[in-house]
Amino acid sequence: MANLYLTHKCNRACPFCFARKVLKDGGGNVDELLTVEEIKTLLSHFSGQFHEIGLLGGEPFLYPYFGEVLALLWQQNISPKIFTSATNPVPEKLKDLDITKYPVKFVVNTATRDSYSEEKYENLTAFLSKFHAVASLSYTLFDLDADTSFLFDIIDRFQLLSRSIRVGVALPIYKGGNQYIDKKDYPGLGKFFVNFAKMAYKRNVILGMDCGFVACMFTPTEIGTLQACGVRFSFTCGAVIDIGPKLKAWNCFPLFQLHSENVLESKNMNELVRKFNKTMDAYFNSQTGIFPQCVDCKYFKRRVCQGGCKSLKSV
Ligand code: SF4
Ligand code: SF4
Repeated sequence: MANLYLTHKCNRACPFCFARKVLKDGGGNVDELLTVEEIKTLLSHFSGQFHEIGLLGGEPFLYPYFGEVLALLWQQNISPKIFTSATNPVPEKLKDLDITKYPVKFVVNTATRDSYSEEKYENLTAFLSKFHAVASLSYTLFDLDADTSFLFDIIDRFQLLSRSIRVGVALPIYKGGNQYIDKKDYPGLGKFFVNFAKMAYKRNVILGMDCGFVACMFTPTEIGTLQACGVRFSFTCGAVIDIGPKLKAWNCFPLFQLHSENVLESKNMNELVRKFNKTMDAYFNSQTGIFPQCVDCKYFKRRVCQGGCKSLKSV
């Protein structure tokens, strides 16, 4: 799967936002877009290679041609997976959507209750009331004093079919530019995540891990607790492939400025992913992982842990 970065526009202003350098690269022009024509060119160049495409930003609900892009994907039997905060009004195209005929998934990027104005919260509740069957939640760990019980409350209140939360870590943009959790705080982060998983389990919710977690942020006992709470382990760092304006592709938001290239220079998505893996290895091959001890680490040797977020090596 690849993600289409549709627009820089966003109404949230999260302190850990990974996408800032993409806007800077576009000359700070918040109106710059991935155009519908560019998306058509992309789909024709990689014809038949996508079954699912992520739509993100910024905030995809603020993309003016959102309906056209959805129609284009459905026409080609590609399922859209939309990453949204759902704090804006539901776009016209989605208002009367029959989800039994038009496959769609939403990943709703959430935060704590106090971060929502009343208007944003009303938009979120209207959205979840309508799309509770195809929406799941995601949450980024940043404030280790945060009260995450709000997430379980909305899963219950709106009876989301997916009782799982995709959890990410606030990671640095290459060479800095956003707020993130420093690696010296990883043991504390591990403890926070274990408590989060325990609370989730009590509420019949399972946590999943996005990229950037490392095995050594947990003690062996904590790993056992996570296992008992049904957490799906993953200590990875790999190419995600986001594609933005002018069909420029990058490995992942934090590494945007390290390397990007036009997608049309690759024959297929596998070739593009291979190129990014090779380029990233070339940049980072002198350092195995984010800690000096990664070199001799049993988790690294067994390929259980990939050594943390590469971007942490640059800050
Ligand atoms: S560098 Fe790796 S861990 Fe960090 S965001 Fe990119 S893919 Fe994820
Ligand atoms: S590879 Fe590095 S980051 Fe991963 S568990 Fe080992 S020491 Fe920690």
